[in-house]
Amino acid sequence: MGELTSAEVRQSFLDFFASRDHTVVPSASLVPHDDPTLLFSNAGMNQFKDVFLGLGSRPYTRAVDTQKCMRVSGKHNDLEDVGRDSTHHTFFEMLGNWSFGDYYKKEAIAWSWELLTEVYGLSEERLWATVFRDELGALETDEEAAGYWRSETGIDPAHILYFGRKDNFWEMADTGPCGPCSEISYDRGPETCECAGDPDHVCQVNGDCGRFVELWNLVFIQYDKDADGNLHPLPAKHVDTGMGFERLVSILQGVNSNYRTDLFMPIIRRVQEMMGHTDEDVEENITAYRVIADHGRAIAFLIGDGVLPGNEGRNYVLRMILRRAARFGRQLGFDRPFLAEVAQVVIETMGPQFPELEARRQFILSTVTQEEERFLHTLDLGLSRLDEVLTEYEAESREVVPGDAAFRLYDTFGLPLEITRDVAQERGLNVDEDGYQAALEEQRERARGAEPSQARDEETLRRYMEILARLQERDLLGADGVGHDPYSVTELETTVVALLRDGELVKSATGGDQVEVVLPVTCFYVESGGQVSDTGFIAAYPPGEDEPIWEIEVQEARQPIPGLIVHVGVVKQGRARTGDAVWAVVNYERRMDIARNHTATHLLHSELRYVLGEHVQQAGSLVTPGRLRFDFTHPAMLTEDELALVTRSVNDAVLANYPVQVVQERYRQAVSEGVIALFGEKYGDDVRVVRVGLPGEPFSQELCGGTHLDETGEIGLFHIISEEGVGAGLRRIEAVTGRVAVDLVERQLSVLQRTAAYLNVASDEVDRKALSLLGELQSARKEIAGLQEKLARREFEAMLDHVQSVAGVSLLSARVTAPSMDMLREMTDWVRDRLGSGVVVLGTVLAGRPALVAAVTPDLVERGLDAGRLVRGLADVVGGGGGGKPTLAQAGGRDPNRLDDALRQAPRMLEDMMAS
Ligand code: ATP
Ligand code: MG
Repeated sequence: MGELTSAEVRQSFLDFFASRDHTVVPSASLVPHDDPTLLFSNAGMNQFKDVFLGLGSRPYTRAVDTQKCMRVSGKHNDLEDVGRDSTHHTFFEMLGNWSFGDYYKKEAIAWSWELLTEVYGLSEERLWATVFRDELGALETDEEAAGYWRSETGIDPAHILYFGRKDNFWEMADTGPCGPCSEISYDRGPETCECAGDPDHVCQVNGDCGRFVELWNLVFIQYDKDADGNLHPLPAKHVDTGMGFERLVSILQGVNSNYRTDLFMPIIRRVQEMMGHTDEDVEENITAYRVIADHGRAIAFLIGDGVLPGNEGRNYVLRMILRRAARFGRQLGFDRPFLAEVAQVVIETMGPQFPELEARRQFILSTVTQEEERFLHTLDLGLSRLDEVLTEYEAESREVVPGDAAFRLYDTFGLPLEITRDVAQERGLNVDEDGYQAALEEQRERARGAEPSQARDEETLRRYMEILARLQERDLLGADGVGHDPYSVTELETTVVALLRDGELVKSATGGDQVEVVLPVTCFYVESGGQVSDTGFIAAYPPGEDEPIWEIEVQEARQPIPGLIVHVGVVKQGRARTGDAVWAVVNYERRMDIARNHTATHLLHSELRYVLGEHVQQAGSLVTPGRLRFDFTHPAMLTEDELALVTRSVNDAVLANYPVQVVQERYRQAVSEGVIALFGEKYGDDVRVVRVGLPGEPFSQELCGGTHLDETGEIGLFHIISEEGVGAGLRRIEAVTGRVAVDLVERQLSVLQRTAAYLNVASDEVDRKALSLLGELQSARKEIAGLQEKLARREFEAMLDHVQSVAGVSLLSARVTAPSMDMLREMTDWVRDRLGSGVVVLGTVLAGRPALVAAVTPDLVERGLDAGRLVRGLADVVGGGGGGKPTLAQAGGRDPNRLDDALRQAPRMLEDMMAS
């Protein structure tokens, strides 16, 4: 077989197992939406975790895939190796085949051998296998696997080696599924040993001289480890394998580095081209080239999966990787953004296998460039500051850069720790990373402390704490249970355990008093997770009667300190007393309005992800009785089609009347079932899960503490009222449901109907009618303007008969009909043109007021005439004022009846002016 392209290598892996009854499944997203404990997918098994835990199942028992992986955080962090060796990447693909309680060691081993030697044609002498032998002697040696290596493959028995727990025993966590594994390594040949000069060095599997490459890990999951460390055999045994795709391709393409494969070379070539480097230049700068190629892939894939650059969690990782690549670019000599070019190559080469890259091309490219530009602004400043810092420490012969210095570089210049570390290491210094983390934490604390909050007032807090302590001492809280979920009810019979007025405990309170009421337990929802608090009332009734003895209207329930909920309200009637038996009643209609908006928010969230893509993540939410507001990550304004589709999908889910289930669950179970949790939020061991959809096939599942409907049909109607941008990559949708949506539609329909009646057309013709009327109006206006001008012209012609001669100067003084001052001025132009030399005075009435314009030709201005003076004299007559230039001036007045008078006086005034 000739040399395979990487695409062919991937395809033959999938085909090989597909033809052995494996279902080909797509790679899961790099962002593990179902496991907030994991920053990024880092192995093929992530998406099948629930199956191994016995919590979920799949419709197949054999699967094959290639999984996008990132190893830059947590347990697997290969960042420091990337670029320095040729086998570790931040982003890579892991090929895997899976058996869920189906085939086991025999087939897994036999097929791996068949694939490598027969399909890929690797030479048998170069392959090595390792199996498990416990160095502590506590666990069984995996002779089963060793036996199959001998019986099912043609491997040289001397190439079967035994290794201990670190290399050959696999555990998902401290407890849970685990088992021995068998690793396949490839011998690149003695000439590739990097420690050839070292007399003590022995080349071996799991050594570190680069000669033996760990290629494929076959994990056999056969035990369940309990909290005491005891292993129990699993009823169903599983196979989980992972092969490094880039390593496989490098072997099959006969190159000694992953970077020389067709997965990386196109990127390296493109950068080389942009830099105008020779091959020698590339070799000289190989680390920078490798880092750029590696990080470029990671950047494109991360953004493709919806991650945006930022300061926390996975957003930080993206920012750090991108900036690190930019810094290496700067080192090569780039002085402008170039990473979008790199991402472009990644999209072109990987797009066919990973359509999300193609689909989000524009988003990826613009996000890369934006972040790169932002960074380049401060990069040089940051680097020169870092240089100063390092020079200073070198001068003092210190070896470690303190953490807070590194932190200030990030805080001020946006230089991530990893870059500071890179540069420091290039000069032989280290960075105190714990100190960096401490400085970062300290700043976060400060930021939190600076948040304004009503309850922060220390004095008030202390008082609440005392009250809580007193109530707890007397065992008054949590007394009457209301079952599992207090929010499943809206009224409850209980007692008042404390009353507060002005922050002080009081025995009783009367009409008009503003109070806080403490109950042992409450059905009032306390504002959280964006859902506003309930309102309602608390009242005491005489036995058997409907008229309360006293009543407090509750405006808000809040939790000033953990463990203490107060109902804030006003005493409406009677004297409220501590110790009284009461009914606490939530405003039911309002609660339902809120629940409609909250359940609709979950539907909206899931439909947005469905319509726009998995990169959509909740960034904020507000749920009130009147409307819902939902902020989410998305790079562009939603099109009319997208909005219509989202609205329709949500309403379809409403009409389908899906059940909404609220259950308490163990956190681990919830995430393994794919529940959406907000990254960065902390959740307890027990969580409340809200599921929407048919039992067993929910399409929306979120960790949520809010109040919800029982069925989606209760939403009634969902309607989006606005969509807008609220920051880089963030959109906001506001929507209404239920009564408010119905009201809105009713109101708008009746406006439409009235309009249709005025226009005398059917409702669905209103828009067309309006358009055609606008058209008619426009042409009518044009026509009117034309007619007016014609009219004015005609008047003007007639006027010319009235030109008189005053002391040898031609004067026209006349009243005209003109629609505006502009027209009036224009008419004086016409006259001046016609007279050649002369004086014009025109008057008209505009909006009930007299208006006058006077114009004098330049030759007469030279002879001392002045339009301004003339018009002011005339303005006197009509009771106003005016002014302008000697050639053209205008005036307004108050009395339209004096206009003719004024015009009649023009000849005399002119005469006076000539005489003076
Ligand atoms: P190594 O010891 O080489 O870091 P590992 O033991 O961490 O590998 P596994 O967790 O068993 O690797 O992952 C399965 C396979 O994925 C490995 O055999 C290897 O081929 C590949 N792999 C692991 N980490 C990386 C990486 N950072 N970049 C590229 N391929 C990797
Ligand atoms: Mg590793």
